[in-house]
Amino acid sequence: MKNAPKARVATAWLDGCSGCHMSLLDVDELLLALAGKITLVFGPLVDAQQFPEGVDVALVEGAVSSQDDLKLAQTIRARSKFVIALGDCAVTSNVPSMRNAIPPQRLLERVYVAGAGAQPGVPTDGVPKLLRAATPLHEAIKVDLHVPGCPPPAAAIAYVLTELLEGRKPDLTAGAVKFG
Ligand code: SF4
Repeated sequence: MKNAPKARVATAWLDGCSGCHMSLLDVDELLLALAGKITLVFGPLVDAQQFPEGVDVALVEGAVSSQDDLKLAQTIRARSKFVIALGDCAVTSNVPSMRNAIPPQRLLERVYVAGAGAQPGVPTDGVPKLLRAATPLHEAIKVDLHVPGCPPPAAAIAYVLTELLEGRKPDLTAGAVKFG
């Protein structure tokens, strides 16, 4: 009998602390079960340089804070069937939005010029340009599911992935997962 094709899953790290990815790794033995059902095609846990075409599920950590974040979010949306905002930074913009009251240039000068011990100057080479404000993912692209938490509990991530792999849309309002 032919095996069912594996789901193509991607993860992405926008403006976040990687804690949501750590929670993803914390699903313990589900990782072994998942290994037989998914192929991880992009994210900090694999070596791919470009977000690929034909992704089934994309889990996105972090707010949209820079032009690079925005471009990656748009690429993710265009190439993924189901996009998940993973964690409070992606869901609400959370910690990254603490800078939103200050215009980006003033903020950068405060940190890199007024606050510099040596060699003051705002870095420009290889640094993505900040957007005016850090925003939740759904303000940049259409999101199919929000998974809250800072970070989301591993049980929530496990539930969501299991449901999706079974062909069901996860319902986080149904009390299937405790958020603390
Ligand atoms: Fe880190 Fe919390 Fe943001 Fe996840 S939601 S990236 S754990 S600050």
